[in-house]
Amino acid sequence: MYLILFGAPGVGKGTQAKRISQQLSIPQISTGDILREAVRQGTGLGKRAENFMKKGQLVPDHLILEMIKERISQSDCDHGFILDGFPRTIPQAQGLTKLMNTMELPPFILVEITVPDEIIIKRLSGRKTCSQCGADYNDHTHPAPADNICTICGGKITRRSDDNPETIKKRLQVYREQTAPLKHFYEEQHQFISIDGNKHIDEVYKNLIEQIKPYIKHADIHAL
Ligand code: AMP
Repeated sequence: MYLILFGAPGVGKGTQAKRISQQLSIPQISTGDILREAVRQGTGLGKRAENFMKKGQLVPDHLILEMIKERISQSDCDHGFILDGFPRTIPQAQGLTKLMNTMELPPFILVEITVPDEIIIKRLSGRKTCSQCGADYNDHTHPAPADNICTICGGKITRRSDDNPETIKKRLQVYREQTAPLKHFYEEQHQFISIDGNKHIDEVYKNLIEQIKPYIKHADIHAL
């Protein structure tokens, strides 16, 4: 199954992608996670991307497309994958279409997750993640322990440096201007599903699965 999770920062794409990935045994490909790891390791890509990320701006399309091409060519992607945070611009979507054609991949299902802006701002400003296992915490719904030590793996819980009020505002503006127009691009050519993300995580997941079920191969349905 080939899925694109689409929506503003903070709508829950990553959380839902992780769950689907575990259940269907297909990788979650988060361009944000790949870039943050590249920055952490100080690779060439990381050095080129860091400044854009700090300011809440998009990393140039050609860097992202190279990164995606390399990632989806790996063997764990042979039976599908979930794109989380990509594509984010029309040139990225066009580049993906070209790649899909070259690799003879079936059409994507695009899942849009929607959440009102004021909820997104609250979510992002309370968001924390375990730097070791990636477990999510949130000051408002699922607070991290006072010592910021992950209850699952004992790793250090941190806040993303771009989850500060000024950068959140910028990221939402970038989303509205550069990413939101993609909806029309995909509505015309793909299976398109829209999910209300302003609900409990479990309910969002249940709705999402119900809606993508008709597109899942018979052999994978038992996993749900
Ligand atoms: P995310 O984790 O998806 O919120 O992404 C964090 C940051 O990484 C974004 O604000 C961008 O600077 C960069 N980024 C992630 N994915 C992309 C993409 N597809 N295109 C351009 N920049 C991206």
